[in-house]
Amino acid sequence: MFTETQNLQDHQDAAPAPINAAPSGFAAIALHAALHRALADAGYTTPTDVQARAITPALAGRDLRVSSSTGSGKTASFVLPALQGVLDVRAGGERRERGTVYGPRVLVLTPTRELAIQVAKATDTYGRHVQGLRVATVVGGVPYGAQLKAMRGPLDVLIATPGRLIDHVKSGKLVLDNVVTLVLDEADRMLDMGFIDDIRFIAECIPKTRQTLMYSATFAGNVGRLASELLKADAQTIAVTSHTDTHEYIEQRLHWADDNRHKQALLDHLLTTREVDQALVFTSTQRDADWLADRLADMGHAVASLHGGLPQGRRNHVLQGLRSRKLRVLVATDVAARGIDVPTISHVINFGLPMKAEDYVHRIGRTGRAGRQGLAVTLAEAGDAGMIRRIQQFTTQSIPVATIVGLEPKKTAPRTTGSAGFRSEGGFGGGARPFDRKPRFGAPSGARKPGGAFKPKRPSAFSK
Ligand code: AMP
Repeated sequence: MFTETQNLQDHQDAAPAPINAAPSGFAAIALHAALHRALADAGYTTPTDVQARAITPALAGRDLRVSSSTGSGKTASFVLPALQGVLDVRAGGERRERGTVYGPRVLVLTPTRELAIQVAKATDTYGRHVQGLRVATVVGGVPYGAQLKAMRGPLDVLIATPGRLIDHVKSGKLVLDNVVTLVLDEADRMLDMGFIDDIRFIAECIPKTRQTLMYSATFAGNVGRLASELLKADAQTIAVTSHTDTHEYIEQRLHWADDNRHKQALLDHLLTTREVDQALVFTSTQRDADWLADRLADMGHAVASLHGGLPQGRRNHVLQGLRSRKLRVLVATDVAARGIDVPTISHVINFGLPMKAEDYVHRIGRTGRAGRQGLAVTLAEAGDAGMIRRIQQFTTQSIPVATIVGLEPKKTAPRTTGSAGFRSEGGFGGGARPFDRKPRFGAPSGARKPGGAFKPKRPSAFSK
């Protein structure tokens, strides 16, 4: 995939700063007028926490070790300084000879195709006023042809998943000698996916003088060791949020189910409530995702499945359907959902539990984005008690137990009290919060028209 941004306006004509007014918000950050204009276009006035703390040291050339949760605005915190670097080089009058392969100046590594595409979109958004900006993505699962073409031309920013990038480097089609900024986005996830040697190989291909910006939910264990290998000794550590943070914008609930049928009944109820703008339903396996999507489609939901077993074209199509609101429900597995940034996802529903506690945090982070409220509901059977306990220990928070009137469980709730000094609230019946009370958050903005924009119908565009 290859995109080239247009030079929409002359990037030199910055609005003059008002006299005597101390700059605040983004205006206080020394970015090029072209970037300020793109931020204004996007409607962003105030930097998020991670942006306020990471952009300035990144602009000063520091290496960064940033732990920041998903949905925090971390993408702009590395894309903006990277684009500023591109603009600085241009202002220095650097010329590139035709016919010579220079490779990118900025390389962003992401664990998944979806996240790569998301970062590329953000780069296009923030770089829309940068004259002739060249952004390319190199990800697996798509034909080599267009990627090879993109890499032959001049390139500013390359966003890639490690495996496919290495294919191109090894075949001699891509050089990384001119990379000045290397970004590792969701480094913990890349390591989980077994990319550690690939990352080392890629880093070896890039000059040691580079700036390295490393983003990860955690820097514990291997990811911390990799950070000390890749980052300079004076790298700045920025811890904006951690997995133990309370998710201010996300309300969490736990429903105990007696069995799979009960779980399905709970899901059916949840999906028919008016508060659902768009819902992301997680399953543990690809098979379950397909099965559940089929079942929900039969019930009349505008739904599709998304998982790593689907061809890339189909995955893009499904994501497009979600963004354009053709889909109201997406049934996904963990890996496939990693890069989803759709602010209208009002509900995340864990129909199947994740394999790892930290995936729970990534899952619920798909809602409550861009300042909106979200609800994350976990449906669990007795056999899931161990994982619920691990999730609660990992986040050091208990997930409040709730019930739905008429769908209360008959079995006794397993104990999920962790050893981290917290107690889970209530259980079956006693102390549990009934679900049919008014949710804490209002109807999401841009909510459905009266009568519902989502007519329950089988979505022909998404049928298999
Ligand atoms: P990220 O964590 O980078 O995936 O960003 C999460 C969401 O926040 C995306 O939808 C961004 O477009 C949005 N966003 C990023 N920066 C800001 C900002 N300063 N103000 C408002 N929204 C933002």
